[in-house]
Amino acid sequence: TLAWMMALYANCSDPRDGEACRECDSCLNIIKAIQNGTDGRSVIEKPVSERGIDAIRALESQARYHCRDRYWWFIIDEVHNLTKPAFDAALRLWEKPPQQARFILCTTAPEALPRTVLSRSFIFNLEKIPADVTAKKLLWPICKREKFDIGKDTLLQIAEKVSGHPRDALNLLTQWIAASEGGVEPEDIPKLLSSLEASAPYEAILHYCKSIVHGKTNKALYVLNYMTRHEYFIDRVIEQMQQILYRWVHAEHLADVRYEDDMMEINPVVPKEPKAKRQCIIEMGQVLRLCLDAQDRIKQYRCNNRAVLEQLAIEITGITAAWDAR
Ligand SMILES: [Zn+2]
Repeated sequence: TLAWMMALYANCSDPRDGEACRECDSCLNIIKAIQNGTDGRSVIEKPVSERGIDAIRALESQARYHCRDRYWWFIIDEVHNLTKPAFDAALRLWEKPPQQARFILCTTAPEALPRTVLSRSFIFNLEKIPADVTAKKLLWPICKREKFDIGKDTLLQIAEKVSGHPRDALNLLTQWIAASEGGVEPEDIPKLLSSLEASAPYEAILHYCKSIVHGKTNKALYVLNYMTRHEYFIDRVIEQMQQILYRWVHAEHLADVRYEDDMMEINPVVPKEPKAKRQCIIEMGQVLRLCLDAQDRIKQYRCNNRAVLEQLAIEITGITAAWDAR
């Protein structure tokens, strides 16, 4: 959406106070394309399904034509998924682009892009939108317009659940509005919110945690790759991981604490022999600290969750691989 907004502004023939006029020929064409979900006269978006060299070649030949608006805009979503030959062809194009061509490369995994691409790009790191802003600026105005009766607290809860993915919040709210008549009953709210929770990749998180606890680096990386490819939220993975670790440490120290759920399937083999047991608990502490560090890093570099989780998997399996061997 932001890429389209940039194209709208840059091609506008009469921008005012830093905003596109939304009335000129170019603006009207782009707005119509956005509404219809199609390419515009001068804005081409390459869908995630076109990742090969053919897509880049098509784009290149298009860029050589004269554009009747100021610039050609080529938007490539999830650009890190381009194939290697496509990247090579694209690099040649980006090194010497046709005069009117501008490229907007979007990615959720900047660390997967070749350095040569990054060094030629002007980089914007997009911050996650805080929950209160999503609730207030996005969800609340819609509810007001649709005369949909819902508490502000509930909107905040929705926004918190989607953790920085406003589109998911929007989808959920639209479903609620479509399915109910003018509002939700307070007693239905917990059920509706839990439907959102079910869509989180609980199974996948469980799998990731299991893999790293049992020292299986490759498996952990595989699951992570799977989760990011399906655009699951991986933000909660570390939280879950910490929860498991706290429970172990508790269970070791406080014999009467018992947890009954799937996460407890993941049990490290704690040796009985006192010295070995002490060593094991020290190592659990190390693992816990790695998790806390990783969480800090995620807060610091919001867009690099995947890189952090990959590194975490490698660090932790370095310790846990020995647990299974014991
Ligand atoms: Zn305009």
